[in-house]
Amino acid sequence: MIDTHCHLTFSHYADRVDEVLTAARAAGVRGFITVSVTAANCLESQRLAEQYDDVWCTAGMHPLYAAEPRDWTVVREAAGHPKCVAWGELGLDNHYDKPPRALQDEVLAEQLAMIETARSEGLERPVVVHCRDAFDDLLAVFRSSSLDPERFVFHCFTGNPDDARAVLDLGAWISFTGIVTFRNAAAVAEAATLVPADRIMVETDAPFLTPEPHRKVFPNEPKYVGHTARFIADRRGVDPNAFERQLDANAERFFGIELT
Ligand SMILES: [Zn+2]
Repeated sequence: MIDTHCHLTFSHYADRVDEVLTAARAAGVRGFITVSVTAANCLESQRLAEQYDDVWCTAGMHPLYAAEPRDWTVVREAAGHPKCVAWGELGLDNHYDKPPRALQDEVLAEQLAMIETARSEGLERPVVVHCRDAFDDLLAVFRSSSLDPERFVFHCFTGNPDDARAVLDLGAWISFTGIVTFRNAAAVAEAATLVPADRIMVETDAPFLTPEPHRKVFPNEPKYVGHTARFIADRRGVDPNAFERQLDANAERFFGIELT
């Protein structure tokens, strides 16, 4: 297994990243992508990725951190690091009224412009998308972008089957967190049965969203990612071991990494 999206730099793991990684490896997790949320956080994520062979990082600004300094030079440079495997997470969040949407829109537009420039300069990375209650808005933005939609993954998918179809029609990938295992998220579980086997991934989004049967545990940890994989395998009626192998192959292909 690989945890394709976690936040190992968050204060929840201060001074115990070693322990968290060791516990996850013992549970069969062979890779971790620690996702950045601000320019300063890009450097923290990079330091972790330099420290551990099985940790990779991303470079980007999360919409809920849109009021943080927009240091695009730092983000662009972090994206070029050999252990950096994606842009993001970036996107839109309509769930909260802060930061204001106008600011989120600005940060998204500047970020996509930076990514397009970097691509024209030869830096090719996939994009991790944060989309909360914002499918219509984001799909419109991505449709008008020159970036390849097959290089986007909608992480922590919380939509219904129609939202999933819209994302898949665009050509993007979909990744599921522990939310899919929650009893009150039947529509998300149904969406998980619709995604083609070669465009689906799983993640923890740790420290948040611990999957059942450990939902009450906080903070979440990468060691729990297998619960989400097995839940989805069960819903899809496929062999869980074969499904885990497929998920690993998908993550390796999407992020361009090789698990050992
Ligand atoms: Zn995240």
